[in-house]
Amino acid sequence: MVARAKTEAKKEFFALLARRKMRLTSQRLAIVEAVFGTDQHFTAEQLLAWSRLRDPSVSRATVYRTLPLLVQNGFVQALNLGKEETVYDPNYVDHPSHSHIICTDCDEIVEFESEQLAEIESQIRKQLGFQVDSMTLQVTARCGEFRRLGFCQKRERCSHRDPS
Ligand SMILES: [Zn+2]
Ligand SMILES: [Zn+2]
Repeated sequence: MVARAKTEAKKEFFALLARRKMRLTSQRLAIVEAVFGTDQHFTAEQLLAWSRLRDPSVSRATVYRTLPLLVQNGFVQALNLGKEETVYDPNYVDHPSHSHIICTDCDEIVEFESEQLAEIESQIRKQLGFQVDSMTLQVTARCGEFRRLGFCQKRERCSHRDPS
């Protein structure tokens, strides 16, 4: 699990498009810039909104065609959080071994990295002779606000967050 910088990954993705003879249209560029310009987890619809901030002519179809390309080639990870909508994570490029805690009320996602997980990886390598390609730990939990108030005031905020 070797980290590579997002700028490098972006170049690789452009090269991939070229190999597939896919033109780098201004719409596709807007999508790619939005993906590599955020470290937030996003849904396809959020990506559409972010991309349209850069180029209002981006179509939903282009977003839905571009996302699988990003996922299949390891630029973005599709997370199964048990929700209707798939959540996409752009951070595996920089942090290939991070894990997630998801608040069961507001759906806030917090990332964490654990040395213990890194130890498990090295144990698997040494004791079993496997090279780990990916390893994730996904924790569903109640955030501090949920525990204090019984609900999350950030429930609304989380689902309408803008890219930073
Ligand atoms: Zn993440
Ligand atoms: Zn919460």
